[in-house]
Amino acid sequence: MKLLLLLLTLVSWPPTATLQTDSLYDKLLRIRRELHANPELAGNEIHTQAYLVQHLQDLGLEVKTDIYGHGVIGIIRGAKPGRKIAWRAEMDALPNDFPDELPSLVKGVQHGCGHDVHMAIALGIAEVLAKNKASLAGTVYFIFQPEEETFRGAKGMIDQGLFNNIKPDEIYALHVTALPVGEILVKPNEMFAYQKRLRIKVKGALSPEVSSKIYTSLSRAQPNSRPWDIQLVNDPVVGLMTPNTIFKDYLVMDRNFNTYAIKDTLFLEAYLYETNKSNLQKIIPRIKSIVGDQLLSVSFIQENPTVVNDVRLTDNALRTLKNIHIDYGQVPYFNDDFAYFQQKVPGVYFLLGGSTAALNHAPGFKVDEKCMRIGVDSFSSLIMQRLK
Ligand SMILES: [Zn+2]
Repeated sequence: MKLLLLLLTLVSWPPTATLQTDSLYDKLLRIRRELHANPELAGNEIHTQAYLVQHLQDLGLEVKTDIYGHGVIGIIRGAKPGRKIAWRAEMDALPNDFPDELPSLVKGVQHGCGHDVHMAIALGIAEVLAKNKASLAGTVYFIFQPEEETFRGAKGMIDQGLFNNIKPDEIYALHVTALPVGEILVKPNEMFAYQKRLRIKVKGALSPEVSSKIYTSLSRAQPNSRPWDIQLVNDPVVGLMTPNTIFKDYLVMDRNFNTYAIKDTLFLEAYLYETNKSNLQKIIPRIKSIVGDQLLSVSFIQENPTVVNDVRLTDNALRTLKNIHIDYGQVPYFNDDFAYFQQKVPGVYFLLGGSTAALNHAPGFKVDEKCMRIGVDSFSSLIMQRLK
């Protein structure tokens, strides 16, 4: 998950189906802790790759590693023909050094976003499905994706022919975050707001009045709401779980521009988060009209695609899983390059409750490992349902 900040509070975690034995979870705990102790940064997932290859081969999966970077594909072919389903898990860690009760053996590198947990869950799902191979109609691809934090891995895999090698009909992924353990949250269409980085170039200096007018003219929120306050996403009255959520129909942007000058040209840059795609095209004309003759240029210098869930597959997941809730909002500050896969293959991205304290990327982010059981139970059930 790119970027930071989130905190939700929901309910408890009733397990969906108990397909597995406790011994599988003991094994997944060991796997997760080994991965957690040996984190690797984006582009450097060498040992992580070798570790995954070994585990997938031990489960009897066909394994490919020649797609992009340190990516790994594990393939399960069911006994009968049928749908082709892909499950994505990220591999990379963060350049952090926060205090952690499960210490990293690599100084300055930490699994501070939960990708260690995602890999363990994916291996757990692979083990369940491999055991049930005889009853599966179709194929399952496990895509272990490198370089998510740099937003390069998914696009890199696609550009180097991932979907010439495998042709999934559907693709799924989850992200563990600060929701109550085991709760799953999903919505159709955009999961997050569109994140853009704006750059305005003007001649000379820009008056604080004009700068402030840009901010007030663009920013938008429902009356008396504070969608920039991500701590409220778990709020029972205004959080993501209620149709009255404040996390819809907003534009949140940096209050102050990051400015720098080159000769007599002033550069002003800011991030903004817009929930409604159709509003994005209005932003640049509005800035042009506010700044007027002083303007040299205005453009988005970063505009990654955002996670967009397939409506039909999301609806199916909502009907299939028990501990799942509809998400009524769109979180600012978050994104995931899973969006690139969804541009090619209909897919669904879920949030899984699993952090007991802080948000992803923040000091104190700590995963409650019980969420792995829910993740494996829920999503192996979902995939088996798709391959009936
Ligand atoms: Zn992440």
